[in-house]
Amino acid sequence: MIHSQNYIGGEWSIPTDGELIVHNPSNVKEQVGIVHLSGASEVLHAEQAARSALPGWAGLSPAKRGDTLGRLATALEANVETLATIASREMGKPISEMKGEVMRGVNLLKYYAAEGVRSHGSVIPASEAGVLQYTKRVPLGVVGIITPWNFPVAIPIWKIAPALLCGNTVVWKPAEFACLTATKMIEIFVDAGLPAGIINLVIGKGSKIGDVLLEHCNLNAISFTGSTSTGQRIAAICARRNIKYQTEMGGKNAAVVLKDADLDLAIPAILSGAFRSAGQKCTATSRIIVEREIMPSFTAALQKGMEALIMAPALDAKAYLGPVASSSQYDSVMSYVTMAREQAQVVAECKSDVADGEGYFIHPLVVSGVSSDHPLVQEEIFGPVAVVLEADNYEHAVALCNATIFGLSASVFTQDLNQGLRFLDDAEVGMVRVNQETAGVEYQAPFGGTKWSSSHTREQGQAALDFYSEVKTCAIKYS
Ligand code: ADP
Repeated sequence: MIHSQNYIGGEWSIPTDGELIVHNPSNVKEQVGIVHLSGASEVLHAEQAARSALPGWAGLSPAKRGDTLGRLATALEANVETLATIASREMGKPISEMKGEVMRGVNLLKYYAAEGVRSHGSVIPASEAGVLQYTKRVPLGVVGIITPWNFPVAIPIWKIAPALLCGNTVVWKPAEFACLTATKMIEIFVDAGLPAGIINLVIGKGSKIGDVLLEHCNLNAISFTGSTSTGQRIAAICARRNIKYQTEMGGKNAAVVLKDADLDLAIPAILSGAFRSAGQKCTATSRIIVEREIMPSFTAALQKGMEALIMAPALDAKAYLGPVASSSQYDSVMSYVTMAREQAQVVAECKSDVADGEGYFIHPLVVSGVSSDHPLVQEEIFGPVAVVLEADNYEHAVALCNATIFGLSASVFTQDLNQGLRFLDDAEVGMVRVNQETAGVEYQAPFGGTKWSSSHTREQGQAALDFYSEVKTCAIKYS
């Protein structure tokens, strides 16, 4: 049995405000570990520890901070298998995908390590002679990082690495279903020489300790990824307290298949977008908008592709998708499956054989025949269920694509360069792609959405440095 622990001010501790038993979502009879929950005092302690470590860490040169990130990258790379295995057992992501995710974490750390010696300001000509005027980035202070369970390694690192590089210290609260992974990741970092107090891991229920973190801690910024409702709540508190914030929330991402699409390219990309990670990505493909005249050939090709998908326990190397992450996820997604079977027509489904009753497995399902305002078309399902909408032509397809409160990611499949380029302009999303799946934006590129998908900042790449620092304008008169 693995036990979660807090890591605050360089000390490990087990909080005593309750516990949760983690069952392997691939086999619920197996107990993977115990998550020990914090109360208010641990959260306040974590903020104090981060505050105490701040002057020392912020006072290092960015190059020295980058050196630390480089050491964390090396240690993580040496532990890909170990960390991926814990995560697969904790939240059900197939091991092959999970190893890829840990490697993404390694690459993010290497990317931000190198930022320590890149330029990060500009010289601005002054109106007067004899004045040197320039900008530089300065740290924000203590940053609260609240992460979800669906990318238990990559999302925390894409927040923590740029936050640290910019000279901030961190209080990190992972999701309840990713705490064993979080503990192991910090253990790997501590073994690699993580300086005390720069990352403070505090484990607990968001509903219980979230308000302590947001209302009673003296945080300088919050970065959150999770549901739209929690994001809205966090944004409201931060706006009232004038805390810099970013919220990455839901998506209802469309793949648009135009009549000239190369289906041999489109179908694997749509299957991957919709069903990898059992559809539990905010960038998952959950609407498939198809030009009406190719519906028969599209449907036939989709069904063939879905028949070949392998759903299996997460540690099975052959698994294309595993179970959903938890019993609450299972209940929530199954309510949409029931709705889909009662109110829509099945277009294609996967009947891959897995031992039912052993884990939270949900067979991939694609349905059609519902109107564009139906909950299946408008609500984020976060599971292996997608809905097909038929479009009369390109303009109708774009209108359907944009008819959602979300604006995270969208794809178009076409062989016509003009249609592809038009779609890059027309799709009201933060990430738009031609002949590629809706998920899978690379770590060096900005990640984020428009409308209700985000608070309109961006993560990853250079964009993250803008969030985790503030610009100071400096001027020196000399003679
Ligand atoms: P999901 O439904 O995907 O779990 P949530 O938004 O509930 O999404 O959770 C995302 C993260 O936000 C988790 O770490 C969770 O513990 C945290 N969280 C949940 N509620 C709150 C809250 N009221 N305040 C702060 N964090 C919260």
